[in-house]
Amino acid sequence: MCGIIGVFNHKKAAELAMLGLFAEQHRGQESCGMAVNNGRIFNLHKKMGLVKSVFTPEVLSKLDGEIAIGHVRYPTRGSSTATNSQPHIVETLSGPNYALASNGDIVNYHEIRRQLEEKGVYFKSTNDGELILKYIIYHVEYEKKSIPESIRLLMKNVRGAFSTVLATRNEMYCFRDPLAIRPMVFGEFEDGSFVVASESCALDILHPKKIYEMEPAEIVIVNDSGVKRIHNDQSKFVSQTTPKHCIFEHVYFSRPDSIDFDEAVYQVRENIGRELAKLDNFTPDAVVPVPDSANFIATGYAKEKNIPYEMGLIRNHYVGRTFIKPEQTIRDESVKQKFNVLPGFFKGKSIVLVDDSIVRGTTLRKIIFMIKEAGAKEVHMRIGSPAVKFSCYYGIDTPNRDKLIANKKKIAEIRDFIGADSLRYLPIENLKKTVSKPDDFCDACFTGNYPLEF
Ligand code: SF4
Repeated sequence: MCGIIGVFNHKKAAELAMLGLFAEQHRGQESCGMAVNNGRIFNLHKKMGLVKSVFTPEVLSKLDGEIAIGHVRYPTRGSSTATNSQPHIVETLSGPNYALASNGDIVNYHEIRRQLEEKGVYFKSTNDGELILKYIIYHVEYEKKSIPESIRLLMKNVRGAFSTVLATRNEMYCFRDPLAIRPMVFGEFEDGSFVVASESCALDILHPKKIYEMEPAEIVIVNDSGVKRIHNDQSKFVSQTTPKHCIFEHVYFSRPDSIDFDEAVYQVRENIGRELAKLDNFTPDAVVPVPDSANFIATGYAKEKNIPYEMGLIRNHYVGRTFIKPEQTIRDESVKQKFNVLPGFFKGKSIVLVDDSIVRGTTLRKIIFMIKEAGAKEVHMRIGSPAVKFSCYYGIDTPNRDKLIANKKKIAEIRDFIGADSLRYLPIENLKKTVSKPDDFCDACFTGNYPLEF
């Protein structure tokens, strides 16, 4: 759960990178950072906090240069400290400096780290971005391989999800893991500059000529000669497999105005809502989303059933992750800080409430309690994905299996726990109908069919 940005050949690279990171803030709110090359060295600024508070005009004015890479972080590997935030930079005795930002998670992290440590490589953090950077630099500086050769070795030996941007003093390398698990796009601009990002919404704000999806195991090299794409199917440096994009990017994680894996996120979410509606043989008074990620799922449900779509719940967008929880009671005021009901809206109504997924179920329980307290006659809970029974090891921070409610309780028990009148998850075969290439998606958190061993 992170977002990356890379800007090449632009006089205001830091400002553009900041705009891109701002558009990707939903991918990580814990810390953010940027490394900007001024032609000689990288200036690095990274801190805990949101993009707007970390990259003030004063900070940006000191980040001079035409190459910038940036990162927003929500931790998956490594603790919540500034040391574990990205980008990571390295200076070497032979001169070149490197900076790297990555989104994903490495499943054989400990094995690769141990191998590098035995060769004398030193690590400052426990973050997988640093592992990727040190792996490449070790092979460039000590094994005398080129950067593309080192990236190929990484793709062969380092297993996991990585959508990564690496910058040197005069070049940028963008690459993606062979399964293309996390999203990654790039765009070229009229003035010859180049931007790469996790999501297309980060490029839209910068108005590129055209946006391209990075291919699985592709390397894109950007330098003064232009943009060179090295496709894996031409050079076959890793054996070609079917991609395994994260289906959760469509269900919940990405912004609805992004195009991920060549499909519009909002459209997939509407398809999910339509599939849910087809399974119900009753007509509620209205469909209400748990905002914001379920908004388009509820839109699809309402369109399919031809019933009103109502924003009965209002979300406070300014709570953030740092709000102080008051004493917990059953009338939990902490959830009221984030969600509130429209006055009088729910009284006497039978509604379908839609959410994207259930992880622990505790927030949903409080929301349904609030809706019932506001006078709803019936609350039928509909979930836009199958039951989450397995943890993710590819870059989304789901808790251990024993904390996942669907791993401990049957559906009827979950329904009773959250206080709904009925509960339905979207079956996996219906979820697969919502995307055009269903075999190209990972569904391990629902099925346990992990595409990579660990
Ligand atoms: S396990 Fe789930 S969350 Fe993780 S990559 Fe696969 S589909 Fe996405």
